[in-house]
This record gives sequence, structure tokens and C-alpha cells, in this order.
Amino acid sequence: MSNTTPYYHETGKETLVFEQCYNNKLPVLLKGPTGTGKSRFVEYMASKLDKRLITVACHEETSSTDLIGRYIIKGAQTVWIDGPLTQAVKEGAILYLDEIAEARPDVIVAIHPLTDHRRQLYIDKLGEIVQAHPDFMLVASFNPGYQRGFKELKPSTKQRFVAQSFNYPQEKIETEILVNESQIDKSIAKKLVNIANKVRNLTELGLSETVSTRLLVDAAKLIHSGLPKRLSVEVAIIEPLTDDPEIIEALKDLCNLMI
Ligand code: ADP
Repeated sequence: MSNTTPYYHETGKETLVFEQCYNNKLPVLLKGPTGTGKSRFVEYMASKLDKRLITVACHEETSSTDLIGRYIIKGAQTVWIDGPLTQAVKEGAILYLDEIAEARPDVIVAIHPLTDHRRQLYIDKLGEIVQAHPDFMLVASFNPGYQRGFKELKPSTKQRFVAQSFNYPQEKIETEILVNESQIDKSIAKKLVNIANKVRNLTELGLSETVSTRLLVDAAKLIHSGLPKRLSVEVAIIEPLTDDPEIIEALKDLCNLMI
């Protein structure tokens, strides 16, 4: 492990599972809401395995061309430029497709032959098939978003991956993460985690996403740098969650009692 390995606190057996998937050349799907440490985990594992990590943040316009590559015009010539997927396949890097369900369907088609025993990439525009480097690994993240507004991933695609669920860590672990990420006092970190758990249990608010560890870390950083505690909670935790003025007021009242 290099000395620049990012801090990651294990919450289950994810490290062991990932290592075995890497050894067995199996693609991995990390499922869970935003801000639960999926990206941090991949950065940590890439560093631990001493592999280059190439991350693509997928959005609704992300196409297979963006991943595989394209011709560009350079002076009087057209030159082929490998996309991030092709680079990773050739050099044996870890490719992380963050929020894969957001991407266009042709992205899923492009990765299919890489997710089974073939481990091949078809580059239509060049008429080439590239055999993946033995160290190439595909990792994707997906937010199941049980409530609303999230794109689904087809079962036939999900079943091409070994999948692991990420969720909000247990209180003790989440407190440690906050202390580590922000150098805040443990007693304040505990209060922030209590607030988060309280809000997470308020399912009647109908929030599409609730308080993530990321939001807590942001609040902790603001408090550590001197912003008043209640204001930090308001701007880092409450306001990003909802735009409904009544819910904002109700959450402020609740949180003010807790910090
Ligand atoms: P995701 O990719 O799931 O949206 P991130 O990996 O970006 O989430 O996590 C958001 C932030 O939360 C990280 O930058 C880090 O500060 C913190 N975090 C969440 N879980 C962990 C963990 N298990 N160990 C260390 N930091 C974590």
C-alpha cells in the first residue's frame, strides 16, 4: 500500500470481497445511496492493489463513444484517441463507472463482453477486438433509490457483476470517519451522527435521499474551521436535503435541540 492511500474505514467485508474479485477477474457493482463511501472505497482499493484508477462519472449523455474512443481532427489528419475504457482495458487499470445506470444504453452493450469470460472490448469504429490486460478490472456504482427519480439497472446487467451494498455506517464507525476526515472533537462528531440518524428515521418526510456521510463530513469540516455549529448543520445537512421551507424549519428546530 502506498503512503498516499486514501483513508477508508471498512464497514463490513468489502475489502476482502473486492480483493477476491480482483484475483478472479470478476467485475464489481457497488450499490447504495450517494455519499456512503463507494468512490472512496474504490480509490482505497486501487491504491492498495497498486493499480491506476480511471473514473468516469456517468450522466445521461455518456455514450459508448465517450468510453471507447473517437477520431479527432488534428491539422490535416484524423487521429484515433482511446477513451477511458479502452485505456483501462489495454493497460490493466481499474475502470470505475460511477452511477452506471445514468449512462446511455449503448454503454451497457459495450461493457457486456468485458464482464464475462471473453474479457474483450469491441471497437466498432476501428473494426478491432481488444483482449483485456490480465489486470483490467471493471467496477461500477449504482444508486438503487427505492423512492423516486432514479434510473434502474436491468437485472440482466446487474447479474453480470458481483454486487455489494453500501449504506450509512454504524454510529461508532461513522463517528470515527467524521473525526478522521475533519479533525473535529469526538463529542461533536457523535452529535452530528445522532442528528443524521434521527433525520434518517424520519421516513414520513418523503425525502428522496437522506443525510449521507458526505453531508456529515461537510458539516464537521465547517464546524472545525470555526463556523457556528447550528449554522453548519443548517447549510451542510438540512439545506442540501430539501427545498421545502416547512420541512427546512422543522428540521432546523429538531437539529437545534441536538447540537
Ligand atoms: P459515494 O461514492 O458513495 O457517493 P464517497 O465515496 O464520495 O461516496 O463518500 C463521500 C465522503 O464520505 C467521502 O469523501 C468521505 O469523506 C466520507 N466517507 C464515507 N464513507 C467512508 C468510509 N467508510 N471511510 C472513509 N470515509 C468515508
